[in-house]
Amino acid sequence: MSIASFGRNTSKLKALLGIRARLGILALILVVPLMLDRVRILEVTRSKQITQAANELSELAKHTADAQREIISTVQAVLKSSAYIYSTAAQQGRGCAIMRASLRVDLPWIRSLNLVDADGVIQCSTQSAFVGANVRDRDYFQRAMETHEFVVSDYVVARPSGAPTIVAAYPVSAIEGNSEALIIAAVDLKWMSQLINNRGLRAGMSVLLVDGNGIILAAPEDSANLIGRPLKDASLLEAVTLREINLDREYGSISFESADGEKKAVSFARVAGTRARMIVSINQSAMLSDINGEIRTAYIQLALVGLFTLLGAWFAGERLIMRPVRMMTDMTNRFGRGELSARVSTAALPAEFVPLAKAFDSMASQLSEREREMAAANDRLTVIATLDLVSGLANRRGFQSRLEFEWMKALQSGSQLSVLMIDVDHFKLFNDTYGHPEGDACLKRIGGVLAATANSYSGFAARYGGEEFCLLLPSSMSAHAMQVGEEVRAAVEGLSIPHRTSPGKAVTVSVGVATVTPGDAQPEDDLIEAADAALYAAKRQGRNAVVAHGLIQPAPSAISLAG
Ligand code: GH3
Ligand code: MG
Ligand code: MG
Repeated sequence: MSIASFGRNTSKLKALLGIRARLGILALILVVPLMLDRVRILEVTRSKQITQAANELSELAKHTADAQREIISTVQAVLKSSAYIYSTAAQQGRGCAIMRASLRVDLPWIRSLNLVDADGVIQCSTQSAFVGANVRDRDYFQRAMETHEFVVSDYVVARPSGAPTIVAAYPVSAIEGNSEALIIAAVDLKWMSQLINNRGLRAGMSVLLVDGNGIILAAPEDSANLIGRPLKDASLLEAVTLREINLDREYGSISFESADGEKKAVSFARVAGTRARMIVSINQSAMLSDINGEIRTAYIQLALVGLFTLLGAWFAGERLIMRPVRMMTDMTNRFGRGELSARVSTAALPAEFVPLAKAFDSMASQLSEREREMAAANDRLTVIATLDLVSGLANRRGFQSRLEFEWMKALQSGSQLSVLMIDVDHFKLFNDTYGHPEGDACLKRIGGVLAATANSYSGFAARYGGEEFCLLLPSSMSAHAMQVGEEVRAAVEGLSIPHRTSPGKAVTVSVGVATVTPGDAQPEDDLIEAADAALYAAKRQGRNAVVAHGLIQPAPSAISLAG
């Protein structure tokens, strides 16, 4: 990376990490950990709920299996007592008759009680329609005959009635060793489903009872249509689950993700003494929907709190820092541009900025006071720079700027402008005779005369240099200027300042007059030079005279007075 691009990146970073961004980060540092902690607690709660649900699931499977076993046990007890009755009655040769007369089935889940002979033919039954039916090919018949023990069948459809059922078989031989007969009972599957319904099931939970062949024996009311169908038809279970369940285990738990992405947990438990199993499954997303909703809300809150925190920090930074800084920068710039009255209003500022604003205002007041003093001093200096202290009139610089001003005015109005150039006659001799201080006093008195004349004619008098004076007469034609020149000459003469070394024994002046109508191409110096030339002419004519310059403005013939 070049030094230049590094510099650029650094300044970009600085801009990004402006005061508002820093405030935002600070605010987030304060808020985000609290929000994250809340999310963490919810996540922990979720995993606890998952564990708790898994435990509940396996407990439910076991308890439901136990409850089903209760039903089977009652059926076994009934069959056993029936077997006793039968064996006693059979010895008297009246087995069926006694059974029909004495058997009372009090249990609603036993649909029928039947006596089956060694060939599998139902000899007597609580339901007369069943008598004569043959169950020899039934698996439970064969197992009971072989084992001489109580046997519970898988799902069967009762032959005479066509009703789905499971059949419990009790061999009479278990009591009376020689008997070949079986007592069988058809168990009402509705009762088994009823047991499942009586369990309070959580959201997303499903319970099924399946036989050894994977046929569904009992299901909750809303899934009653599954009864009698193979377990694989129950969409909540996948092949993998079936494999696990079909393993010869008393109980177990599996969790898996189904093809549609649903996470499921399954627990199963064998109904003791049978090949049937209770299968309980739960859909995790349904179970966790509440907590997932809470976590989602927490994340949304986190995002919103973060956003509002950032906005708040930006707004606070803008209102409390950036705006006051901009306000003061603006005032400083206005002050720098010369707006000396610019002041920061402390009312609109946060308290922390008030001392700074007051310091700025105080500095601005002092600077503007100093500026005023300097301007006044400057004005005084400007006046002094254009004044002649000896005569009390304007000096040459003052005359020059006034000439430019009047020239412009005359140029605009098309009026004439006259200049009188006045020189003290034999002034060197005056100095030599009376001394320089006396010379100054003389110049001062002549200055007084010129000031009065200028005052009378709205003119402007100045000391042009040495013992030379100028009188500017705006809007004055040559004749009038000549007249004013004459007045000046006469007034100086009238002062009667003694000058014993001059021919006239008094101080006199010579006056050169020039008049012009200013034109664009004409320099002002022409007017001065013309007046100077006229003055020279007046000197040559013998001094104490007034002469008009004839080149610029034809003037009447020179008036030559004494001299
Ligand atoms: P002319 O009639 O031809 O004008 O003769 P002049 O002697 O007046 O002229 P010149 O130019 O020879 O002398 C001008 C004198 O004016 C020389 C100088 O001593 C005197 N002077 C100039 N400025 C001052 C001043 O400020 N004070 C005094 N006292 N004298 C000044
Ligand atoms: Mg001179
Ligand atoms: Mg002179």
